[in-house]
Amino acid sequence: MKFKTDILSLSLKELSDFIVELGEKPFRARQVFKWLHQRGSSSFDEMTDISKKLRAKLEESSNIKNVSMVEKFISKEDNTTKYLFQIENDYIIESVLMKYEYGNAVCISSQAGCAMGCSFCASTIDGLERNLTAGEMLSQVYEIGKDLKERISNIVIMGSGEPLHNFDNTIKFLELINSKDGLEVGHRHITLSTCGIVEKIKELEKMRLQITLAVSLHAPNDEIRESIMPIAKRYSIDELILAAKEYADFTKRRVTFEYALIKGVNDSVECAKELAERLKGSLCHVNLIPVNDVKERNYIRSSDETVNDFYKVLKRLNIDVTVRRKLGSDINASCGQLRKKYIGNY
Ligand code: SAH
Repeated sequence: MKFKTDILSLSLKELSDFIVELGEKPFRARQVFKWLHQRGSSSFDEMTDISKKLRAKLEESSNIKNVSMVEKFISKEDNTTKYLFQIENDYIIESVLMKYEYGNAVCISSQAGCAMGCSFCASTIDGLERNLTAGEMLSQVYEIGKDLKERISNIVIMGSGEPLHNFDNTIKFLELINSKDGLEVGHRHITLSTCGIVEKIKELEKMRLQITLAVSLHAPNDEIRESIMPIAKRYSIDELILAAKEYADFTKRRVTFEYALIKGVNDSVECAKELAERLKGSLCHVNLIPVNDVKERNYIRSSDETVNDFYKVLKRLNIDVTVRRKLGSDINASCGQLRKKYIGNY
């Protein structure tokens, strides 16, 4: 079978080179690019202002590898909608739409499955299935935008997968989503969440993008962190916090530290004090998330009272902190839960 180009993952310049190789004029590239990235076309037939000859050539030599919706779940509790999408090779990924007063935010997946092995996370139970292409990350945003018929203004890369473990495709996604001839979502409206691959945070910082960094910290020290996150054995918590601090210094944007509160594991007042001590003086913000119960591990969400005590300690010690409202808990709108349920293992 002839190799076909993944056209949705090409930058405008790459698309232009590709079109020249097909014997056409380079300016056609912008037209095709706009069909793909502004209108979210899923077939070349839709591109009515492009000659039939070029459409046939594109069809023969490339694929539009978009994601296709399998199911959608609308929360009755809040303005959250969860989408299950199928990608090539029949893998299932999930994305979430959150409607806020300031606009529509989409949470996308960067990988099918995940290799990181965090013990409280449903996305990683079967390991990594595969990396998503830049086009498949974009397509989650485009499909939700088309379904909603409204502009998507904010993006969080916080669905399944570790974006910094799929670094090149994630960078390509960030370039394309920001493109003038595409959706043009500003980098300041994008947050990337990582479990803390320190060398990749440094690499990201060198790229001088203005995206906001979120770090899944979940513990106040190495010992607890290592017991729930394998990545903590590779990088110490001090190294990680330092890398996050340097990132914030450069972007002048607060880093968010995510902290899922798990009953009896990381939710004591001592933990809160130790965390505050570690974060003192950093331009940061702590987002407390009562963990979603993981029945395989016997992990239980901390009580409201414990969450409140933890919050108050941080606040008293001058750490900027919020408690994340539970979004779409009636539709399993977090971290691989719905997908697991769909494919029958959860
Ligand atoms: N790999 C990236 C992004 C995907 S996970 C990262 O680790 O940040 C998105 C967020 O959901 C992370 O903060 C992750 O730690 C958190 N998370 C995973 N499982 C959870 C659960 N059961 N309850 C609450 N938060 C969870």
